[in-house]
Amino acid sequence: MTQLTPAQQLLQTAQKMAFTGLNKGTSGNASVRLEDGFLVTPSGVPAEQLHVDSMVYMDWQGRAEAGKKPSSEWRFHLDILQARPEVNAVVHCHSMFATTIACMGRDVPPFHYMIATAGGDTIRCAPYALFGTQALSEVALVALHERKACLLAHHGMIALGRDLPHALAVAVEVENLCEQYWRLLQIGEPRLLTSAQMQAVHAQFKGYGQWRDPV
Ligand code: 13P
Ligand code: ZN
Repeated sequence: MTQLTPAQQLLQTAQKMAFTGLNKGTSGNASVRLEDGFLVTPSGVPAEQLHVDSMVYMDWQGRAEAGKKPSSEWRFHLDILQARPEVNAVVHCHSMFATTIACMGRDVPPFHYMIATAGGDTIRCAPYALFGTQALSEVALVALHERKACLLAHHGMIALGRDLPHALAVAVEVENLCEQYWRLLQIGEPRLLTSAQMQAVHAQFKGYGQWRDPV
């Protein structure tokens, strides 16, 4: 089986975010680590108009390759990839349910054991900051501390992974959890797992699946 190039993987991820309904129009973006920088999706291009050549190389100083305009959110992609050496891919989307909860400014509590797949006992919601700013990158990094995902108030979510398929899988799971949480809120006050129960879930996940997961 031939290995996809990073640009091909990034294209596939952006297209999957659109096909799965995680993103609509030009919302959302994604990045993947390279040895000497990273590749990020271009700004304001809908998935159906993207090509392998649309992807933008950036160095760790935040300089984009000549003639290309990177995602307006390149700052948080750069800052996350620099701050988190175990993370090789970042996806950002405005999916319906994650964004709904984010617009309430709520953390997602441990109403289901799968919350652990985002790395902790909650999914934090970062306070609002303007899109495309260093301020947004800073609040996102705090909310992502020791986590694989966070919500962004009045905006959407960010998910991280060891590679692009993993980051996309985390985003799909966060969206699923946010839909479940939204449904629970229609019925009443969700019952939550205790921190001891969540500790047991984290321990159980260490032996689950095919990966010894450092992310
Ligand atoms: P870009 O098209 O510049 O990546 O912006 C989309 C987005 O989601 C901004 O937060
Ligand atoms: Zn956005």
